[in-house]
Amino acid sequence: MRVLVIEDEKKVARALQQGLQGEHYEVEVAETGEDGFFSALSRSFDVIILDVMLPGRSGLEILKTLRRQGHRTPVLVLTAKDAIEDRVVGLDSGADDYLVKPFAFAELLARVRALIRRGRSIEPVRLRVADLEIDLVTRKAVRAGEPIDLTAREFDLLEYLLRHGEEIVSREMLARDVWKEPSRGTPLDNVIDVHIARLRKKVDTEGRAKLIHTVRGVGFLVKLGEA
Ligand code: CA
Repeated sequence: MRVLVIEDEKKVARALQQGLQGEHYEVEVAETGEDGFFSALSRSFDVIILDVMLPGRSGLEILKTLRRQGHRTPVLVLTAKDAIEDRVVGLDSGADDYLVKPFAFAELLARVRALIRRGRSIEPVRLRVADLEIDLVTRKAVRAGEPIDLTAREFDLLEYLLRHGEEIVSREMLARDVWKEPSRGTPLDNVIDVHIARLRKKVDTEGRAKLIHTVRGVGFLVKLGEA
């Protein structure tokens, strides 16, 4: 597996190179955006790790150009702490995932593996609606940057709702796909409603726009605005 690291901070670049080589990845380091851009175009990589803050052309400019040219290698963007804007712009510019500096090497490794496993554009590693985002690698949810503490079932439920975009999800679908009880020998409607209520309490806290909607007699959906 070949990884291209585009990072101007020598210390970070070296740590990444050594760490990844220790995991048997072949690593090439580019210290400027230009060098990284040419490496990405001239050789093939399984993953590109791209720092946003680079001298000269920024990481996001490089990413946009690569994507415009049809370059599909998965890209993990490294952003500065608190630069929420960079993360959103990064994902919109064609990044597949991001990691906030400083990060633990183990997390970087998990993300690199997930990107290689999923391949580009097959499976997202994060799902987002408005300011709510869930991470399918770490199974963590955040809203407006604040972590939300979810049980495994609540996470599955939220993931299912987000995967359906603005499509209404029925209780039957949830029973079958989230609770894995297609036969409905025991009616799950109450159980599902209780879980939705708990999820809503955690996600749509006071002062935040309502995202989890109930459509009477039909089911549920997640969206910003009226259901
Ligand atoms: Ca940098």
